[in-house]
Amino acid sequence: MADLKFQRNFGIAAHIDAGKTTTTERILRYTGMIHKIGEVHDGAATTDWMEQEKERGITITSAAVSCQWNFPTNKGKADANTKKYYFNIIDTPGHVDFTIEVERSMRVLDGLIALFSAVDGVEPQSETVWRQANRYKVPRIGFVNKMDRSGADFLMVVRQVKEMLGAKAVPLQLPIGAEDDFKGVVDLIRMKGIIWDMATEGMTFEEIEIPADMLEEAQEWRGHLIEAVAEYDDKLLEKFFEDPNSISDDEVHEAIRKACVDLSIVPMMCGSSFKNKGVQTALDAVCRYLPSPVDIDAVEGTNPDTGEAEIRKPDAKEPFAALAFKIMTDPFVGRLAFFRCYSGHLDAGSYVLNVRSGKNERISRIMKMFANKQNPIDFIEAGDIGAAVGFKDIKTGDTLCDEKHPIALENMFIPEPVIAIA
Ligand code: GDP
Repeated sequence: MADLKFQRNFGIAAHIDAGKTTTTERILRYTGMIHKIGEVHDGAATTDWMEQEKERGITITSAAVSCQWNFPTNKGKADANTKKYYFNIIDTPGHVDFTIEVERSMRVLDGLIALFSAVDGVEPQSETVWRQANRYKVPRIGFVNKMDRSGADFLMVVRQVKEMLGAKAVPLQLPIGAEDDFKGVVDLIRMKGIIWDMATEGMTFEEIEIPADMLEEAQEWRGHLIEAVAEYDDKLLEKFFEDPNSISDDEVHEAIRKACVDLSIVPMMCGSSFKNKGVQTALDAVCRYLPSPVDIDAVEGTNPDTGEAEIRKPDAKEPFAALAFKIMTDPFVGRLAFFRCYSGHLDAGSYVLNVRSGKNERISRIMKMFANKQNPIDFIEAGDIGAAVGFKDIKTGDTLCDEKHPIALENMFIPEPVIAIA
């Protein structure tokens, strides 16, 4: 069984046009699953599934894509300490028509990259998604994209996240250079400059001393960062004032992780996905700060026979329980039901109970979606996300479970979205 500690189920949420599709593509490229970056304006983006979506050039579906990431890396290069992390990226639609779809995906993910445009800052859809993420208590990292654009302003967006979204947004970085000259960031944890190496498409970076004219500002922001997470480590503030050099990077990372998972801060980073700058640093932050399936609370539901409350822990030995969050038609395999497996183990070819319909249905195949291919898998276990083939009657929000241990996970009873075609 895969170690759930190394798994991350996360989404990327953004207002339309902030760069979610581009960022997703960079991630899939970095993680080695696609070789050619589809151009967004051609409508060939990997996460674009439906014709309509291609026509409109926006992402409206909630596909889940799986990939692997090596972490930690030594300046972007894998070394002996590097471990493989498994990502399921749940696509959260960015168009205002589809907030119900966002809601569904929010239910099944454990963390979020909240993407903002460095020029446009907090936009109406960012606010909607933010509120939904609050409702489901989803820890998030803020990524301020488009730092290469004219008028880009990282700290303006940080301020807006505080003021407009009411979150304690805490910069982990400061940009080095701006607009065309945007070349790196000051890492406020390591207190070093990072300059991305464009020869490796920004996968690796050089470490430099913090530019002299930024040192004072960096020290000030590091102070804000330490203060913001100090309550998660008693000694941090003391060390900061008495002997700042005695603070290790790991101590700061751990305090940030706890504060982020607790929803008391939103760590803020910046980059340009279009220019391949900063996306890999954000992926490192996903591994560092966003929770794994074992870090989240056990899921609650009700026994449909007795009405009693039941819980399911993220453990393969528990009875199987899963929630279908997206049904879509795939040109190759037909109807696909994306589901999050909260507990237990399910073999392809076996039967599950759909609590709503009361029927046992056979799942002929279980698929994992990679950037541009679908791989059948033999089984799926707690914490993972997959797509099932073979259902005759399935709707989003349905609970799938072990017949002998029935459970209805919270059902949102939300209507199907009305898709307005312009
Ligand atoms: P989405 O609607 O959030 O999925 O946004 P897209 O990924 O489709 O990006 C919208 C537009 O912004 C496209 O033309 C992208 O090429 C462009 N874009 C995305 N990221 C960046 C960036 O970091 N810098 C610049 N200059 N343009 C970007």
